[in-house]
Amino acid sequence: MRRVVIIGGGAIGSAIAYFLSCDPEQEPFDITVVERDFSYRQASSALSASSIRQQFSTAINIEMSRYGIHFMRALDQALRVGDEVPDIGLVEPGYLYLASPAGVDVLRENHAMQKAHAVDVALLTPTELKARFPWISTEGVALASLGLSGEGWYDGYSLLQAFRRKAVSQGARYVQAHATGLRRDGRRLTGVQLGNGETLDADVVVNAAGAWAATVAGWAGIELPVRGRRRSVFSFSCPDALPGCPLVIDTSGIWLRPEGRQFICGFAPPAAQDLDDQPLDVEYEAFDSFIWPALAERVPAFEAIRMTGAWAGYYEMNVFDHNAILGLHPACDNLYFANGFSGHGLQQCPAAGRGVAELIRFGGYRSLDLGALSFARILQNRPLLEKNVI
Ligand SMILES: Cc1cc2nc3c(=O)[nH]c(=O)nc-3n(C[C@H](O)[C@H](O)[C@H](O)COP(=O)(O)OP(=O)(O)OC[C@H]3O[C@@H](n4cnc5c(N)ncnc54)[C@H](O)[C@@H]3O)c2cc1C
Repeated sequence: MRRVVIIGGGAIGSAIAYFLSCDPEQEPFDITVVERDFSYRQASSALSASSIRQQFSTAINIEMSRYGIHFMRALDQALRVGDEVPDIGLVEPGYLYLASPAGVDVLRENHAMQKAHAVDVALLTPTELKARFPWISTEGVALASLGLSGEGWYDGYSLLQAFRRKAVSQGARYVQAHATGLRRDGRRLTGVQLGNGETLDADVVVNAAGAWAATVAGWAGIELPVRGRRRSVFSFSCPDALPGCPLVIDTSGIWLRPEGRQFICGFAPPAAQDLDDQPLDVEYEAFDSFIWPALAERVPAFEAIRMTGAWAGYYEMNVFDHNAILGLHPACDNLYFANGFSGHGLQQCPAAGRGVAELIRFGGYRSLDLGALSFARILQNRPLLEKNVI
């Protein structure tokens, strides 16, 4: 039986463990997931905004999210363990992209691309926007794009736990330990070294170490262009309700969405300040200096908000082209990568988990071809640019 050791037990590692353990008749695997922190205090999967959209600019991301939403809608059956039925609280109010006059061409280009891939999306003029969402100010908005189905949010931590519980019920083993190195014999890895001095023998190793994936790759002598980029999220209450509020991406780049009876919002710092591996301290200053003013400009009811909490987590940013990196690297025959999701990894974990499991099991993709996300594009310097990175 092939021994698979997955480094990182977040949503990605757990989805891979689930899909690999699904079909023991085909080939049973001996699966160990090495996760250094079972409380997931710094894991992106537990600190995420946990939303899913279909409005991407590349076909591969659209296809991955399409599978993601189908999987999530039926997850209570797929991931149920006996009487325990997981509930990730999926809701689908859509994403609303707002474009300034300068952003209209890109919005239209993305729209054409999305329509060509059967995405359920509509363009709205400012008048149509106001009619649909009377609480929004259309100041500075030239055009908007609204997802009509397949977009919304859920609880990311519950999703991770649902994959994990189901994988364990199918025989995967989770070990709380810090992976510290790889044992190698020529082009193959033979084991994963742990901080407690043990080595886990392995026929296959998977790098699912999230924002820390470049360190794991480095042990195999491979440069992985993935860096931890801090993202702060703020929660706030507002006396007014905003009927039908979708996830809004403002012209300022700030995003917001309802979270229960409150709201959450976030932003991407300007490139010059978006440094690698910053400590996970919340950027409170940003909230007062520009997030709140921008929120209140877009939604006048937000003049009266009160911040109720905040946290920071890492985007595991692929600094080469902001898209996932999946599969083998030519320098090593049995180290699989599932990294660099750059802010859209939670919605892609079903597709990535299934795809990497197929690569391990069959040596190639069987359902959705994720070859566009292989290392080849990096080695050939052909970036697959996703314009819609939030
Ligand atoms: C603020 C924020 C908002 C986001 N919003 C969205 C969103 O709306 N939609 C979306 O799809 N995605 C979103 N994302 C991105 C998404 O959360 C991530 O892409 C996804 O969770 C990555 O999952 P992962 O399993 O690769 O990483 P993680 O969840 O970080 O898991 C990696 C695990 O590896 C473990 N690990 C690392 N190194 C080692 C080691 N050496 N030994 C043992 N264990 C190790 C870590 O402890 C960690 O638990 C957001 C992320 C953030 C931070």
